[in-house]
Amino acid sequence: MHTPLDYDAAIVELDRLVTAGGENVRKTVIGSSLDGRPLVMLDILESNVDETDVQRAVLTAGHHGMEPGGVRGCLKVLSWLIEGNGRSLLDCLHLRCIPMVNPDGLVIDNARNAHGANLDMNYQDEDGLTEPESKAVWKAVSEFQPDAAIDMHNYAATHSSVYIHPRNETPEDEEIAGRIVKRMYDRCAKHDFPMWEPPWLENYPANVISLCHRCYQEFHAFPIVTETNEAQFEPEEEAECGFLMASTVLDLAAETWPGHLDSGFPVQSVKSGYTTSLYARGKTATERRANRIELWQHRDYLEVRDIWPETANRYRVVLEAVKGYWTPRQGAGLRLRFPNGRTVRAVERDGIELEESPLDGYQVRTDSCSTYLYIDMSYLYGCTDVIVYLQEA
Ligand SMILES: [Zn+2]
Repeated sequence: MHTPLDYDAAIVELDRLVTAGGENVRKTVIGSSLDGRPLVMLDILESNVDETDVQRAVLTAGHHGMEPGGVRGCLKVLSWLIEGNGRSLLDCLHLRCIPMVNPDGLVIDNARNAHGANLDMNYQDEDGLTEPESKAVWKAVSEFQPDAAIDMHNYAATHSSVYIHPRNETPEDEEIAGRIVKRMYDRCAKHDFPMWEPPWLENYPANVISLCHRCYQEFHAFPIVTETNEAQFEPEEEAECGFLMASTVLDLAAETWPGHLDSGFPVQSVKSGYTTSLYARGKTATERRANRIELWQHRDYLEVRDIWPETANRYRVVLEAVKGYWTPRQGAGLRLRFPNGRTVRAVERDGIELEESPLDGYQVRTDSCSTYLYIDMSYLYGCTDVIVYLQEA
């Protein structure tokens, strides 16, 4: 059932959460709406944690004022992080949340802002930022450079849905997106919340550059849009459903994705072929983020070539894998993926054997279907080829 938001009650709840969060929550007013309502932002992070080594996620809701379910779900996520089981995430996650992007629309239950603008479509480019709400939001979000961006909506349909854009259009990245959606689907199914199954994840209209898509375009952030259905739900159920979807994504901040080197959102692989990809390296989440954004912003100058198997257990890597007008020298790695059942026996760089070492050699990870070999790019400059010897596991 569509039930408009009680705006004043939502503000009271936000203030209660700020108080409950103590030193872990910082409240900022980043601007005001056309009708003068405050645009409230919360930053949530365990106060004694080293901020250079945490994941960053942005959570927004209420772009469309007639979609109060998104805001309710967002408040539920905040409560979970501040005073519930989600608190344990706060030692590896900094969440920046703007729960009511369009307060004027929320008060009168109208999708648009007081200018009649659709804020969701106001992030196309710098010229597109015409509204005070979207300008303030984009400033706060772009300064933050998130690793993941979640935007919560709701609509009058019989099923909920989610849009996730795979990092790269490769089987691996589509598989990651699909596995995350499957987790959401399973969690929602347990609560009898019907959800459309993929392929909805890729169907966000291509001509809409929402906040999430802009974060993906500029920072290679993981973009997720949740749409909870309000057709047959009470407001509390709607909030629970949105919460289940958004918290599934936030949980990834503490997880090491199968086959990956570092924990956090699975966004470090920047440009991929099926077996060869470029990924961002770094000792801390901050270093990896900066390196990832640099790699991503130069992706048009980079070419990743697939590797050539010479025999089943001997692969030669063509080292013009990265070429162009710009080459990453720091903070980039080459990653090779082999079908499972084999391990890496040796890696040679121009005939010199590399050590298996996290500091100055190669590293290997496996998941249920693949073996992954990681080599820092800084060891590969000036050499003509790398030969990887595999053997049966
Ligand atoms: Zn919407």
